[in-house]
Amino acid sequence: MFYLKHKEEKLNIGDDNVFTTCPICGKEHAVDLHELLAGGEADLFGTAVYCPACAERRFRDRKTAQSSKQEMARPTGRVLPFR
Ligand SMILES: [Zn+2]
Repeated sequence: MFYLKHKEEKLNIGDDNVFTTCPICGKEHAVDLHELLAGGEADLFGTAVYCPACAERRFRDRKTAQSSKQEMARPTGRVLPFR
């Protein structure tokens, strides 16, 4: 189990207190680390995650444009890698 430490205070990492900002709109949103890590991507510094609205919009745009089946099967909006 991992946790954050700030001024000697332990901050547990849960499924409701990890956040990031969307690389498109900059909106802060919650991230489910379980889901992120389950996707095989463990680079927490180089991974960007779209907010639900941008992920949906991006998924829809991809669907109308020519896209690969792999992209369409992954509508979560995860961007790998973000460097
Ligand atoms: Zn967004």
